[in-house]
Amino acid sequence: MTGVTLRIDTARWRKHLQQVAERVPGMVPVAKGNGYGFGNSRLADEATRLGVDTIAVGTPAEAHSIRDHFAGDIVMLLPWDANDPNAVELARDPRMIVTVSQLTDLEILANLGGRKPRVLVEVLTSMRRHGIPVEDLPAVQAWQEFLQIEGWTIHLPIQSSTADEAERLGKLAQQALDVPLWYSHVPLLDYVRIAKSLGEGRTRLRVGTQLWLGDPGALTTTATVLDVHPIKRGERLGYWQRAALQDGFVVVVSGGTANGIGLEAPSSGRSVRSRAISLATGGLEAAGFALSPYTIAGGKRWFVEPPHMQSSLVFLPAKLTPPTVGDEVPVDVRNTIATFDETIDD
Ligand SMILES: *Cc1c(COP(=O)(O)O)cnc(C)c1O
Repeated sequence: MTGVTLRIDTARWRKHLQQVAERVPGMVPVAKGNGYGFGNSRLADEATRLGVDTIAVGTPAEAHSIRDHFAGDIVMLLPWDANDPNAVELARDPRMIVTVSQLTDLEILANLGGRKPRVLVEVLTSMRRHGIPVEDLPAVQAWQEFLQIEGWTIHLPIQSSTADEAERLGKLAQQALDVPLWYSHVPLLDYVRIAKSLGEGRTRLRVGTQLWLGDPGALTTTATVLDVHPIKRGERLGYWQRAALQDGFVVVVSGGTANGIGLEAPSSGRSVRSRAISLATGGLEAAGFALSPYTIAGGKRWFVEPPHMQSSLVFLPAKLTPPTVGDEVPVDVRNTIATFDETIDD
């Protein structure tokens, strides 16, 4: 192992998946993008194990990549695009359910010919991303004759309490057309309450992060120490030949931009305040250094310079005991942007 490794405590992870599935009536697992670090085909296999009848993907390409791993229905989450030939083909597939976010697309789908396309109709929420405004929802009813309308899709913001909006929009949508409500990002407890009040088979919840990454203790990510070099203060190192600020060691670890290391997805948690504190307190961050996600000798270490494609240089102060070449060290990665060199099921 010389790359970045994801280790899955498989029994524990699957137990968590099972528990979420049992708690959430009508759960639809989401497998999209990098497959939350596991890969979409792996997630589709796990969804099969869970016994769910439907899975959700983002794009037509993702739908293709999982078809052989999942035998049930596949929802495409991104709005259906009449200009994409792959999307048009998918709308004819009896296993596919496409998401429609504009009234004009309902008309195009209704005129595709052949069997009725299966659609979810997206309601515009306070996200203001995609969807049909509430006042236009009654117009959807007219297409019922030509389309198999599987439900309304209601995608809410993650922040703050969304349950009120979920219920309000759900009521309005069902007044326009009485089909199931497919929610995203309603807090689990609120969703369970809404699902109970509306009755079995009347609601669905798409879940990605809380399902696949909801038990972080089941997942461990490590990198390998590739090389260790002592260095004296003032000596230069790395591509950029910066001078070492103190005596210590350069530790070369596996993992770089190719693995998503150093490419932190923008985080809402990193507040203006925390940035202001780091500027005010000076130190390495103010000097242009970045804290690395690698834990070596008991703490997070600073990058010597921006990570390379497949390895990174980090600095270890002289007072600490350097690791041995070949050691595995913990590395924090954001699973939704990470690419692992190896995934091990324990
Ligand atoms: C990606 C996505 C989800 C899953 O999001 P998580 O935050 O990972 O649970 C749910 N619904 C829609 C419409 C999405 O695009």
